[in-house]
Amino acid sequence: MNLHEYQAKALLRDYGLPIPKAGVAVTAEGARARAKDIGGGAWVVKAQVHAGRRGKAGGVRMVGSPEAAGEAAAAMLGTRIVTEQTGRDGLPIGKVYVEEAVQIEREFYAAVLVNRSRAAVSVIVSAAGGEDVEAALTRSDQLMEIELEASPDDGASAGFAAFLGLPEDTAAAVIDVLARTKKAFIDLDASLIELNPLALTARGDLALLDAKMVLDDNALPRHPELAELRDEEESHPHELEAGRFDLNYVRLDGDIGLLVTGAGLGLAVLDLIKQGEGEAANFMDVRPVASRDEVAEGVRLLLEDARVKVVLVVAMGGGILRCDTIAEGLAEAIRRTGSPLPVVYHAAGTGKEISEMTLRNQGFAVTLTDSIEEAAHEALRLAQTRGA
Ligand code: GDP
Ligand code: MN
Repeated sequence: MNLHEYQAKALLRDYGLPIPKAGVAVTAEGARARAKDIGGGAWVVKAQVHAGRRGKAGGVRMVGSPEAAGEAAAAMLGTRIVTEQTGRDGLPIGKVYVEEAVQIEREFYAAVLVNRSRAAVSVIVSAAGGEDVEAALTRSDQLMEIELEASPDDGASAGFAAFLGLPEDTAAAVIDVLARTKKAFIDLDASLIELNPLALTARGDLALLDAKMVLDDNALPRHPELAELRDEEESHPHELEAGRFDLNYVRLDGDIGLLVTGAGLGLAVLDLIKQGEGEAANFMDVRPVASRDEVAEGVRLLLEDARVKVVLVVAMGGGILRCDTIAEGLAEAIRRTGSPLPVVYHAAGTGKEISEMTLRNQGFAVTLTDSIEEAAHEALRLAQTRGA
């Protein structure tokens, strides 16, 4: 579950991170009042959406008076923001965060994340923080992983200070921030906390200007108060509905509606679609224990999506997952909606033959294929011929 910046900062403030004074507003008048309460002479007004790169898209505005804070909020609230991370529909701005502005001397990037290859929590830092950090993050010489468990000997902390180009006392303050962030990560069962930028101000203090935080959905039952932070307004109605049927649904920009029986399989099919220069309308993965009714609800979402020109279903049976359950759900959805959309189906493994028989015998215009590649190609072809 993604948190908004304001939510992440409220949580991290309790761990002693250097969070500037700020408030949340849902109206222009509220933003003006927040700026007044915060005091000072410069503020930043920031769109609260689950996406980064807001700065480059007009979603982070510096202002010099409470009135200007109100105007910046008025310009953002109720509109949709399109950043490099939102997809082309953008996301609705329902809240703004009004924060005291600081004068930035340097910007750092830091992250606490699950390092799967080491089966450990890693803390990484880069001196190339700020808006153009992506380029730096692909270069290992610009990143340093920090071991917080071992109390750093003088050599290690001097090396860290040199890496960031900071005097040792400031570097020690950065280490303290990272240790606190790691504690928050573990206490709150996060899967990612990114600090970007963590700024060194002209006054010589650290200030956390932006935070991205993702919580592990599987751990939310342990944190009922965190589960309440979910922002349903921002999710597409299809995502919420899919969630009710335990389907993993992610909305994408294309026109091929996709349902698959496993996340890895789904990624492979998405790759094939991309290689064929097509775009999926969504990613949808059903659990091995999904019932035929849950599958039917998932397919219905695809058939009712006005963007979808063809539905592609790939079922890999095995273990407790049976292709015939998938095919029955598929047939049920076509029957119930009466949708004329073409459907491409590929099955392998447990229940393959019976699932194909189910679809053949019911007179639906379902194309059965012999391989995943063929299924993807057929879906691409149908999407193209119906694209005109
Ligand atoms: P993002 O673009 O969605 O990651 O939004 P950020 O909150 O990171 O803001 C984008 C950029 O705005 C940051 O990288 C900073 O350079 C700048 N920024 C944010 N807050 C302040 C501030 O208080 N003072 C100054 N001078 N710049 C800020
Ligand atoms: Mn940022």
